[in-house]
Amino acid sequence: MAFSYKVQEFFSAQLSEWELAADNYALLKDVSTRKISFGPYDVFLQFNPGRIRSTAARTDSSSIEARPCFLCRENRPARQRDLPFNDSYTVLVNPFPIFKTHLTITLNQHEDQRIRHRFSDLLGLAEALSGFTIFYNGPACGASAPDHLHFQAGESGFMPLEKDFTAGSLTRVISRVNETEILVWKGYERGIITLRGSNKESLTALFNTLYRKLSNLSPEQSEPMINIIACHHGDSFIVHFIPRKAHRPVQYYFREEDKKIVVSPASVDLAGIIITPREEDFMKLDREAVSDIFRQVCMGDDEIEMIAGDLE
Ligand SMILES: [Zn+2]
Repeated sequence: MAFSYKVQEFFSAQLSEWELAADNYALLKDVSTRKISFGPYDVFLQFNPGRIRSTAARTDSSSIEARPCFLCRENRPARQRDLPFNDSYTVLVNPFPIFKTHLTITLNQHEDQRIRHRFSDLLGLAEALSGFTIFYNGPACGASAPDHLHFQAGESGFMPLEKDFTAGSLTRVISRVNETEILVWKGYERGIITLRGSNKESLTALFNTLYRKLSNLSPEQSEPMINIIACHHGDSFIVHFIPRKAHRPVQYYFREEDKKIVVSPASVDLAGIIITPREEDFMKLDREAVSDIFRQVCMGDDEIEMIAGDLE
């Protein structure tokens, strides 16, 4: 049986036996969304109170050390079952969903969230989980467990970025290296580099080069700030890299309630579904505010073009 079928069976079984997850997936059906049009593309707000624990997660090292790791097997809820993926990873149902089928794929050992030597694992997951899009949030880019390596997955096609990529008018191929296409986005308010190709080694080599370039720009970081979104269609991988300049927008830290915005951008937000756990933010955010958030946390088109320009 294909692995993605096993995952669907596993997911249905979990919803029938784990009340917390069943309740939260039922609530997701009634979640409010708002569309903000940017002309050639749209961004959506999702009012999702269940995500407050992730959005407001304290990810500083003393807070992390003070809590039991919720991805380690011994600390998981009794009702949360696991589905092994090869010898290294375990698939879990995410009980606080954004997607209709929302998975967390966690490393079997408690190791820091680092992508450096795990990129080919991400491609392997994308290949095995057909119909799903896999994403990685860096330790200071939306991961609420920066101390335990994990990816997440949701049904492909849900995030507007995917449709915007297929439409083609916002991206441009700037070069080809060993059959892998390198594309950059223009006028999307978020600087993004996309790789498309079927050769895993070529994709991984390009990732390694990109990683080194980004590391050189921020040598003080434990890893360059980044979100990565990957899927596998036909025989090709499509991998979006969103290098980051900041963890959260300045408004996140404001004390004045009327100026504060509780949005903590991660892969899904930057792919066009902004999660607002508080209703006031859901009501308040407009095109200008969204654009401001994107610009604060992402690189601009010029920076992206410079970085992508000489990847080989
Ligand atoms: Zn852990």
